[in-house]
Amino acid sequence: MRAEHLRLAGIGAGPANLSLAAMLYDHAELPNLFFDRKPHFRWHDDQLITGATLQVSIFKDLVSLSDPTNQFSFLSYLHEQGRLYHFLNAQFTSVPRSEFRNYLAWAAGKNDNVVFSETVECVEFDRVFRVVTNRREVTADNIAVGVGTVPWVPGFAQPYLGPTQFHVSEYLSRSKDLRGKRVAVVGGGQSGAETFLDLISRPASEGPAWVVWISKRRSYFPLDDSTFTNDFYMPDYSDYFYQLPEGKRTEINAAHLLTSDGISDSTLRAIYQELYRIQFIEGAAHRFGLMPSRTVTAVDRADPGWELSLRHNDEADQTKCVAVDALVWATGFRPADKGFLAPLAGRIETENGEFRLDEDFAAIWDGPPDRRIFLQNAARGQRGLPDVNLSLNAWRAGRITDWLCGRRSAEPLTSFIDWSAKNAWGPQ
Ligand SMILES: Cc1cc2nc3c(=O)[nH]c(=O)nc-3n(C[C@H](O)[C@H](O)[C@H](O)COP(=O)(O)OP(=O)(O)OC[C@H]3O[C@@H](n4cnc5c(N)ncnc54)[C@H](O)[C@@H]3O)c2cc1C
Repeated sequence: MRAEHLRLAGIGAGPANLSLAAMLYDHAELPNLFFDRKPHFRWHDDQLITGATLQVSIFKDLVSLSDPTNQFSFLSYLHEQGRLYHFLNAQFTSVPRSEFRNYLAWAAGKNDNVVFSETVECVEFDRVFRVVTNRREVTADNIAVGVGTVPWVPGFAQPYLGPTQFHVSEYLSRSKDLRGKRVAVVGGGQSGAETFLDLISRPASEGPAWVVWISKRRSYFPLDDSTFTNDFYMPDYSDYFYQLPEGKRTEINAAHLLTSDGISDSTLRAIYQELYRIQFIEGAAHRFGLMPSRTVTAVDRADPGWELSLRHNDEADQTKCVAVDALVWATGFRPADKGFLAPLAGRIETENGEFRLDEDFAAIWDGPPDRRIFLQNAARGQRGLPDVNLSLNAWRAGRITDWLCGRRSAEPLTSFIDWSAKNAWGPQ
């Protein structure tokens, strides 16, 4: 086991910190090590439903948008596997999520600065950071926290979680035996949609007897993946967003939610076509139910199964109960616990439950300016919705790498759109 002093210790090795690990790999002058508590690399493995695809361009891999010649690019992966031509000829409109997962696992496996089965339990500071894992201690000048998110269900459901009531993050393990059952899927985002599609697509003899899809949203809304909307996922917009007042940032995140949390058009179309087939060709409309605009307010044991109380969002006096045998909560994820930072937490500024970050994605704290706590995927309120998805991973990791290297790389060209009124107007 290495006992060492690092230039940077990384906590977590999901796509965000893997991107930084890839950028740092060739910098022998910047010793770094990234710890992940999982026994080996996984990326939402229990949600790798057949047909699930990446919701962003494949150029948004770990490195390409910032460092296209980096050896950890998706293109390098294809090349090393000898499947470049096959990938081209497959003509994917969007890349299978399982292939992207395999690429990430390849990048993690190839990088010997990434270690698994090591949980960071505590980080203290005394001129340098002391990072304590379940297996060793290291010291580091800087740390990068990239612990991502954890599954979330409403509090009233938590006591009941188990084999027949579970979060979608356990879907593939728990959904094998739903033949002849009444199943509810709660959640109107991409995960809920993929789950509903998977369940209704099973052959009638093997599938559930009834699948109901419940969502708070008024209907099943698409992801806005159009051209100008994608400009919200560009570096210059992230920097523009960052300097807006807090109230405005909150307002924009709420208004733009479907640019990140909506359902892919292809998934919606597949669901609609499957419903057409079931109702009009198979003549089995009794096999599904669609209940948007409903909030699940309680869940109770029934005999057998579960009883859900639903309040209609437009007709508030209408509360109905639905009885099911199994329940899948596709209710999203929340920021993971950062309790290991407890010894430092009082020294870091906060805003609305987030650590406040400077423009390099480092926490604003009372420690020395050359000792930094970088935070990835932890600033949705300050950096907007792209902070939690793959879009700006390479750029954000590039900015952190730049600071570690004492340089500032040229930014990509800005959007066609003038985001700010502060810019000069008129022909440029
Ligand atoms: C099913 C699904 C599909 C998605 N698909 C897309 C998509 O197509 N496009 C897109 O842009 N976004 C997508 N996202 C959103 C986002 O890109 C992913 O959630 C992504 O995994 C976030 O990366 P991350 O590195 O921030 O966090 P995570 O992937 O959550 O990784 C964090 C890591 O930190 C580790 N960890 C936590 N605490 C500790 C600790 N104390 N010590 C050591 N290790 C620790 C965890 O084990 C974990 O491996 C998807 C999300 C889900 C749930």
